[in-house]
Amino acid sequence: MKKQMLISIRDLRFATLVCTQCETRVTLDFASQFQPASGPRPFEPPQKCPQCGQRYDSNVPDAIKTLHQVYRALAGVDVVTFTTERSAE
Ligand SMILES: [Zn+2]
Repeated sequence: MKKQMLISIRDLRFATLVCTQCETRVTLDFASQFQPASGPRPFEPPQKCPQCGQRYDSNVPDAIKTLHQVYRALAGVDVVTFTTERSAE
């Protein structure tokens, strides 16, 4: 038996990067409204682990940036949902 769960793109608000070297986790908030005092800046995902300095896979920062753009474009209109499916335990 499988369990299905419908999630909105708004539910994908937090993305967590895991360092393959030291397993440090960095969680990004796609809905953050934080604005530095110096003024608005474009979203820039981290390029490397803040703990040990290991660089993330070269595809990861660009993919995270794209995901952030998709989140920003679609979370407000709430027309896209995803269905997850996993075996019931
Ligand atoms: Zn690390």
